[in-house]
Amino acid sequence: MLFDKFGRQHTYLRISLTDNCNLRCFYCMPEQEYAFAPPSKLMQPHEIVEIAQTFVEQGITKIRLTGGEPFVRKDADKILAGLAPLPVQLTCTTNGVRTDALLPMIKAANFSSINISLDTLNAQKFHKITGRNLFEKVRSNIDLLLNEGIPCKLNVVVMKGLNDDEILDFVGLTKELPLEVRFIEFMPFSGNKWTSNQVFTLNEIKEVIQRRYTIHAQIGDIHDTAKRFGIAGHQGSFAVISTMSEPFCAGCNRIRLTADGKLKNCLFSTQETDLLSAFRRGEPIIPLIEANITSKAYALGGQLEKDYMQIDADKLENRSMITIGG
Ligand code: SAM
Ligand code: SF4
Repeated sequence: MLFDKFGRQHTYLRISLTDNCNLRCFYCMPEQEYAFAPPSKLMQPHEIVEIAQTFVEQGITKIRLTGGEPFVRKDADKILAGLAPLPVQLTCTTNGVRTDALLPMIKAANFSSINISLDTLNAQKFHKITGRNLFEKVRSNIDLLLNEGIPCKLNVVVMKGLNDDEILDFVGLTKELPLEVRFIEFMPFSGNKWTSNQVFTLNEIKEVIQRRYTIHAQIGDIHDTAKRFGIAGHQGSFAVISTMSEPFCAGCNRIRLTADGKLKNCLFSTQETDLLSAFRRGEPIIPLIEANITSKAYALGGQLEKDYMQIDADKLENRSMITIGG
């Protein structure tokens, strides 16, 4: 079982399938010309499945596929077929661009739920954020999934002055749609020009929503990254992921495997363990996994100040979000 030195058991593995993407969200992908990892550096389907199997034997019960955009991988079907027999809750995070094209494969994967990222309900703003004119496609693919009865969560990164004026529109969606809208505080990563005054916090989000609605907090568990809220008469609900203003490290049960097979024990960890190279050399990877988890810092990779207002993004040592896997 994968316990760290603070007694936290790690049961949730997020696997990035690729650092490639069909969108160019400015807060995720570095602005300068970015070279995607060559296919030979990426974990191949059988490697993903065998490494995932090893993690399951060590107590992992939930796997989320992410990226980059997981569904730009041409061999996503092989990966999904290989993971399907594992006794885990399988989920994914996607930008929703290819959902309609890949619907049969997505349905066959039996995901317990799917997170789709959409930061705006305005087509022009979508283009400004993602660099692509695909708002209608993503918006209709959300309806497609809901019509198929697949539970959906909507990831919305809230940035001050960019889309904080749309918070009530997103909450409005939950009146008729059984969606969980998850507002995510903007986080600093390499190359994303983060500044603390762009963060729209949990309290600010709640304040905006409470001007129109009476909200009630829902009971969560210690591993939750999201603080959840309901509104009477709404089919859906909303949640806030307050990594910056109220981090939730105490109950962390998550680890991440990058698309090039490096284990990261925190989004903000500086240290990575190269599992893929060891796996390719035929060496045992369990001791490497255990050492990585033992070395996990208590909070925020050990490198972010407790007060997010004090963070100097230029001093952070990390990859860009797209190469970590969100
Ligand atoms: N391409 C997929 C997508 O967009 O859903 C999966 C990968 S993406 C990196 C995973 C999640 O991370 C998305 O919901 C995205 O909005 C979020 N994300 C990326 N950069 C972020 C940042 N700087 N702060 C907060 N969330 C971020
Ligand atoms: Fe691509 Fe997702 Fe990053 Fe946007 S957030 S650039 S869709 S990986």
